[in-house]
Amino acid sequence: MTDSLDAVRPNGWLNAPSVDVDQINSDLEPATPTVDVAMYYPDNLDKAHREKVNIDLMVHGFREAKKVFANNGVQLKLVFFKTGHLDTRLFSINSTGSESHLPRGFANMYVEAERHPSSLPPDAEAAFNAMVANVPGADRIVHIVVLQDVFMSFFEQLDFRTWQLKTISTGGLSFPGYMYGSTMPRHLRGVITITDLVKGENSWKTIAHEIGHKVLNVSHEHADMAPQHEVNSDEGLMFYGDGAEILAGREGRFHHERLHVSPYVYRTADDGSRDWNPDYVTDGFYYDAIYDGINIDLDAVDS
Ligand SMILES: [Zn+2]
Repeated sequence: MTDSLDAVRPNGWLNAPSVDVDQINSDLEPATPTVDVAMYYPDNLDKAHREKVNIDLMVHGFREAKKVFANNGVQLKLVFFKTGHLDTRLFSINSTGSESHLPRGFANMYVEAERHPSSLPPDAEAAFNAMVANVPGADRIVHIVVLQDVFMSFFEQLDFRTWQLKTISTGGLSFPGYMYGSTMPRHLRGVITITDLVKGENSWKTIAHEIGHKVLNVSHEHADMAPQHEVNSDEGLMFYGDGAEILAGREGRFHHERLHVSPYVYRTADDGSRDWNPDYVTDGFYYDAIYDGINIDLDAVDS
């Protein structure tokens, strides 16, 4: 990507006329823990892509996500739903630069991710900057941006010393703290990409699942299942399947507790001011000090 991409910033996007933000937010209560979510939909995406994601599907996914988090004592507030023109060169991006790629090491995936954080390649950063304005407070908002393709690469082990690099297209990607730490530009750390909301029968929960990665700050794990790349199971918000539970305590991998200490969560006081949870102490990885006592030591030896 070239310097000319600077010309696409900042955007002049407008609120989507078909989205009734006030109605969607009409159930909000000030004293309830809240997460702000902003949504962005380019209005010039290719026609063929509109079957995978459109504004109605985004709003439907957001309403489903509201239910999932409301069941766990957190309400989602839609701060706005913007739409406008995106430079067509930014429709497809890679999620990481090649320097992030290393096959699995000897420590658990969260420790390995902290040793070798993922980082945004220039095309991804340009796409996000074209939609998300760098303004005070942007770093406390979950920004859900629609693109056509977001590719993710990872290594798969073939035998004891051979690894194969695979690249997959994602339906949603959360660019989570446990993978990126503080490598994301500060105002972009809350970005989630959505690229396909009709790929399976559980697509209703894609947006909730991706918000889960961001605010629980965990990978695909649930109850007694340690994190892995892809898990098909009907239990738990963080697996692929029907489930939407966020469990508490050690047996729930502290997901409920991690949600409630997230730096994206605030309460509104009587005078209208916001009482924010403390921010990450270090870089926001899985073992950040805000999670002391509510993380799992995956390398501990039982017995
Ligand atoms: Zn996931």
